[in-house]
Amino acid sequence: MVTTTQRPALDSLPITKLKGVGAAVAEKLAALGLHNVQDVLFHLPFRYQDRTKLAKVGTLRPGSEAVISVEVVMADVVFRKRRSLMVRVNDGTGSLMLRFFHFSQKQVQQFTPGARLQCFGEVRRGPSMLEMVHPEYRLQSQGAALEDTLTPFYPTTEGVQQPTLRKLTDQALSLLDGHTLVDWIPADQLAQSNMPDLVSALKMVHRPTQGSDVEALMSGMHPAHRRLALEELIAHRLGLRLLRVQAQQNQAPVIPSISELAGQLQASLSFTLTSAQQRVLNEVLSNMETGEPMLRLVQGDVGAGKTIVAALAAAHAVSAGYQVALMAPTEILAEQHLLNFSEWFEPLGVNVGWLSGKLTAAKRRDAIESVAMGHQRIVVGTHALFQNDVEFKNLGLAIIDEQHRFGVHQRMALRNKGATEATLPHQLIMTATPIPRTLAMTAYADLDCSIIDELPPGRKPVQTVAMESARRGEVVVGVEKAIAAGRQVYWVCTLIEESESLQAEAAEDAVAMLTELLPDRRIGLVHGRMKSREKDTIMQQFKARELDALVATTVIEVGVDVPNASLMIIENAERLGLSQLHQLRGRVGRGSAQSSCVLLYQAPLSQNAKERISIMRKTNDGFVIAQKDLEIRGAGEVLGTRQTGLAEFRIAELGRDSDMLDTVSDIGDFLLDNKPVNVKGLIRRWIGEERKDYGGV
Ligand code: ADP
Ligand code: MG
Repeated sequence: MVTTTQRPALDSLPITKLKGVGAAVAEKLAALGLHNVQDVLFHLPFRYQDRTKLAKVGTLRPGSEAVISVEVVMADVVFRKRRSLMVRVNDGTGSLMLRFFHFSQKQVQQFTPGARLQCFGEVRRGPSMLEMVHPEYRLQSQGAALEDTLTPFYPTTEGVQQPTLRKLTDQALSLLDGHTLVDWIPADQLAQSNMPDLVSALKMVHRPTQGSDVEALMSGMHPAHRRLALEELIAHRLGLRLLRVQAQQNQAPVIPSISELAGQLQASLSFTLTSAQQRVLNEVLSNMETGEPMLRLVQGDVGAGKTIVAALAAAHAVSAGYQVALMAPTEILAEQHLLNFSEWFEPLGVNVGWLSGKLTAAKRRDAIESVAMGHQRIVVGTHALFQNDVEFKNLGLAIIDEQHRFGVHQRMALRNKGATEATLPHQLIMTATPIPRTLAMTAYADLDCSIIDELPPGRKPVQTVAMESARRGEVVVGVEKAIAAGRQVYWVCTLIEESESLQAEAAEDAVAMLTELLPDRRIGLVHGRMKSREKDTIMQQFKARELDALVATTVIEVGVDVPNASLMIIENAERLGLSQLHQLRGRVGRGSAQSSCVLLYQAPLSQNAKERISIMRKTNDGFVIAQKDLEIRGAGEVLGTRQTGLAEFRIAELGRDSDMLDTVSDIGDFLLDNKPVNVKGLIRRWIGEERKDYGGV
């Protein structure tokens, strides 16, 4: 229950009501997302400084920040390049210069020799002695210490100084007494959690009292901090749940689960579906026949066989007279899908269209026209599929591969692509980055989840070894052996810099080395700077066994399928994250032969790199690896980050806060079922009005 009260609410109090905030400052604060007084309260410090500890001038080092208690020796206005006020101070252990470029006459007069003051600032090397430029300071005559609490530091923006943010939070905190800030999380829901109520949490985080556990506050482990992170996570889950509710208010095409085309496709395969594939396909089909939009995430480790499941779903949609869009995050992966889908569908008389960013204007116009006319029943492509001028005649199913590269906003965009007034296409999202359950509950709360938790029969786990790169010579012997046995080999070059040209160079070096040592073998090269047609040609040659070894930069990371390749060498493996290593390694072990992966590294290894390599050696299980990755690197990285819209948390961090995620869904679901007003309040507080598409209320 929300109690009605006469007290005004802080979220309807504009920020301009605070002292010192005029139009200009308000505009700058808006850039920080601060519009009203409530926003100020949820703008948290990222660190604190104990200014009660005084430093001795004689021990200061350039680059450090310090509070000093000093006496003025002399003050002087000098004119060099700029007019400046120089104040020389001393504390008995050494001298230091305070330098001001902006100052009033009154300030000049304050600094009389002998006056005592405290200053805080960054210490810099000056021409004759250490300096502080524009330090914060307080004269003893104005009251003793500079601060008596731990001083907070806020994320800020050009033109808004720390003292301004401190003054604003001071005012906002004092307004808590006369105004209402609703605690949308009912107290009984938090009874066992040992977390403070909202107002206490905010006071603690903004103005920690002497003796507070600053470490815990800064690392986000303090109960006050966790209380706020919990609330934010709940708000995001609710936003996604509401998205789902909204989507499901729409109609979707009714797609019968019996399809002659799908039957023909299945009969044409050289294998039968695993029971996991069949189960997931059934989950998809039973969604699509209801007339409610499907919102389904299919997770499956690399090589689990997601593509054919998507293709069978597509066949059902096509049978029912609808169009299907299949979108992949990279050209090379989209091309591979095009190839697979064409091989599967064209013999059955279904035309597969292609739409990528690299089409010529004329080809693109043709493609767009035939999509709009409905001639193309299946269209494969990249992001180009959801550009504005692309319109489907009757999109029934949108399939997105490798979901972790697309964010919630893109998910929405494609969902809306085929939308008419009250219909949405079904949506099937496939990810090869297994997402730990708890993370999926928060990150993909708008989706149902299916898991292909079984690999096609006959696959043997990839054996992984690690070797120092000095032993490359021995590795080449292994390469020769594999080739002699009729197998193919990947040699992957990586570099820490995201520089394609450096990667390409390293790859060219590796080609030269292999060509010299294995003169009779056919060595190919693909890297990111090649034209996609060239890349394609090389990949096709490798697939057709016209090449024995393929040297590649990380462009092969995603989705490439060559079952006869059974050995992979990864150079500089220590520089890659676990998920990336797992994805790469997933390119081998796709056929029936025993496969191996050699992780070459440059010694010495950092602790973290040692851990990653040891995990890779111990397990082939993508879920275990993803969980470890989450622990080591945090959720943003695991999910493929920035674009996900998930890295936008203000306070929470999925990796650090993952132990709260069960609580997040429990409380979130409780609120959704019982407290619509609270749901609205939380979303407005944390997600805001401007992002209406995502959790709009
Ligand atoms: P991913 O899930 O990584 O996208 P793919 O769909 O590319 O995996 O499938 C990997 C390989 O396994 C492909 O060569 C595919 O034809 C093959 N495959 C898929 N399902 C089966 C199955 N049930 N039995 C045997 N091979 C299969
Ligand atoms: Mg795939």
